[in-house]
Amino acid sequence: MPVTSEFSLIKQFFSQLTSQRDDVILGIGDDCALLQCPADHSVAVSIDTLVEGIHFFSDVDPYTLGHKSLAVGLSDLAAMGATPAWFTLALTLPDLDQAWLKGFSNGLAKLATEHNIQLVGGDTTRGPLCISIQVHGFVKPDQALRRDGAKIGDLIYVTGTLGDAGAALQYQSKQWHNVKLTASDKNYLQQRLETPTPRVAIGQKLLGIASAAIDVSDGLLADLGHILERSNVGAQLDLAKLPLSCVLSEIDRESAQQFALHSGDDYELCFTVAPHDSADIEQGFAGLCTCIGTITNDNGIYFINDQDQLTQLTGTGYDHFSANR
Ligand code: ADP
Ligand code: MG
Repeated sequence: MPVTSEFSLIKQFFSQLTSQRDDVILGIGDDCALLQCPADHSVAVSIDTLVEGIHFFSDVDPYTLGHKSLAVGLSDLAAMGATPAWFTLALTLPDLDQAWLKGFSNGLAKLATEHNIQLVGGDTTRGPLCISIQVHGFVKPDQALRRDGAKIGDLIYVTGTLGDAGAALQYQSKQWHNVKLTASDKNYLQQRLETPTPRVAIGQKLLGIASAAIDVSDGLLADLGHILERSNVGAQLDLAKLPLSCVLSEIDRESAQQFALHSGDDYELCFTVAPHDSADIEQGFAGLCTCIGTITNDNGIYFINDQDQLTQLTGTGYDHFSANR
């Protein structure tokens, strides 16, 4: 069936995209969706927009773009410890490209199904390619993992490995000089950039354990910086403990550390834990996260350099409106 209008497009690609949840009283097709939130829970809401040429290359595979468009929102839910429930999709398309829509909606559907999150509405317009997804999840308000709960003495952890997505981006845009990757290394890094894994299950397991949490979308220093600012504390990092993938650390350890500190798009979680809860983390999360430092009362982020001096880490991550871009 050729797609000839906004309505047939929605019908063909989006109205049956995800499985149906019992708490969706009315889904796609009316002026609004009607949704039922469980008692004693808040709805955690977050929206992200991906713009062609800014957040993704024009020739990116639509399937991976569908994955990533939802993954970034799921990562925000993960960082609050929320359970995914519903999402809406605002899609601006230059034309009705069936092959593109098929790939995009398949990538979206696969990740949505994995996380039992239902598409309940959206908006479709014509214009330069742009994708906005708003996600909704459930969390008890007194348990949610906020940015403002870090305390002096807490340990700082991150999930997975850092810097892979940033390295992929630099390699793609030919700014990572003197490096030639093998096909499989390139593939690994590319996958980390294009199909990140939102740490939803870990986020939920951190409820009642983590004192603060954030997802690393703009770079570790920038995002940890948000926790520090909101919690009015500082941090000391052990740079040797920054978790790096084998691929990244074997290529160029120095650059790897820089990517891990400054580059975004990893969608790992950074969280803080009181020392007396750290045993829970070491046991329950073995292999899933790494302790990288401690919360201190100094403003800023510091490390001990080779000469045993306390040194401030400067520079942040990606800022769309920064003056020196
Ligand atoms: P309205 O003009 O009342 O906003 P629309 O014509 O924009 O309604 O949309 C009709 C129905 O299709 C609504 O339920 C809307 O939520 C849904 N919808 C529109 N675009 C999308 C999309 N890209 N993905 C999912 N649902 C969509
Ligand atoms: Mg509309």
